Amino acid sequence: MQQRMKEINEQAKSCPCGSNHHPIEIDAIYIESRAMDRIASYLLERNYKRVLLVADSITLEAAGAKLQESLLASDLEIKRCIIPPDHQGDVVADERSIVHLMLEVSPDVTDILIAVGSGTVHDIVRFAAYKMNKPFLSVPTAPSVDGFNSKGAPIVIKGEKITIPASAPAAIFADLDVLVKAPAAMIAAGFGDMLGKYTSLFDWKFSHAIAEEPYCPLVASITEKALQDCVAQVDEIAARSEEGIRLLITALIESGLAMLVFGQSHPASGAEHHLSHYWEMEYLRLGNKQLLHGAKVGAACAEIAALYDRVIKEEQLPKAAANAAQDEASSGKLLYIQDKWGEIQGWQREIPATDQLKAWLQTVGGPTVPSELGVTQELVGRSLREAHEVRKNRYTLLRAHNEFLL
Ligand SMILES: [Zn+2]
Repeated sequence: MQQRMKEINEQAKSCPCGSNHHPIEIDAIYIESRAMDRIASYLLERNYKRVLLVADSITLEAAGAKLQESLLASDLEIKRCIIPPDHQGDVVADERSIVHLMLEVSPDVTDILIAVGSGTVHDIVRFAAYKMNKPFLSVPTAPSVDGFNSKGAPIVIKGEKITIPASAPAAIFADLDVLVKAPAAMIAAGFGDMLGKYTSLFDWKFSHAIAEEPYCPLVASITEKALQDCVAQVDEIAARSEEGIRLLITALIESGLAMLVFGQSHPASGAEHHLSHYWEMEYLRLGNKQLLHGAKVGAACAEIAALYDRVIKEEQLPKAAANAAQDEASSGKLLYIQDKWGEIQGWQREIPATDQLKAWLQTVGGPTVPSELGVTQELVGRSLREAHEVRKNRYTLLRAHNEFLL
């Protein structure tokens, strides 16, 4: 992964795409068995002596306790912060968890934080570390999301989920001995988050062609390769073999690197993420127990793929363009879409058939349709009509569909 990071940084430096690339400033990414054993010497080499290890009760058991022991053996000073669950038993990245952590960070004493956990623990640490100007290390305990190395922290504030700029980890230690023991549902969720790249890559090209959103073929190819590697090994991932888990966490981290280098989430997030976000906000409003991010994204990807397939095969937008020709107000963008229709059709053909997407999700044991997650048909229908509004700055095919065809 060291080599891959260097390669990406080099290519980005001379990338002719015209968008503003950001060098990846992560010291090291280790994806291997016993990766955690490297942490003590990493800390000692950089003179980080006073360490705050952050976990929840589950990830403490999965990796935190063992890590603490090995750091103590190296004469490092370790304090531990265990994030408590909410009344539903979930650890949530909200005000309560953030303050709980910030109270444990001493501005003059703490040298570094270590996030031991899944995406949520990482988001809590990422935010607190950034605000308190401390570096942090990432120790993922499940290959469940592509956000470990993200710079943005999705945080629930006053019951609303918003993404706040924060910092990326100084280094990542993805220990395969820990990751292979992750719950099957979280592994399936990681695969679902990757599968979502089919529709996000489509939407990215679409939004670039129709709304001139920034696009970079180099970054798109990083995400695309991560996606292909992952799908090619779906059986290994389903078997939860060390090789399968290595491939999945590598793909998730590479997808994260693509976002870091691009500086925005375009490469990894399109209408399928907007749908998932819509469901999440509804669950927050209702006070429902939250669902795994990647589980939602996987099922949402199949929904969006089915919708896009219909829109393209039935030539819905060129037909709307023909009918709207007299109406000056709406015809501008429609004519643009009509003009690029051939290209748009080509991009849509790169999204596998909905049945294939569902078959892959089934292979890894993830939910294939929203109802399996408990998301109602009513909510699915409403989200398909309204989810484009959750990201007002993104021109997805879902937005075009809802603007011109509803
Ligand atoms: Zn995602």
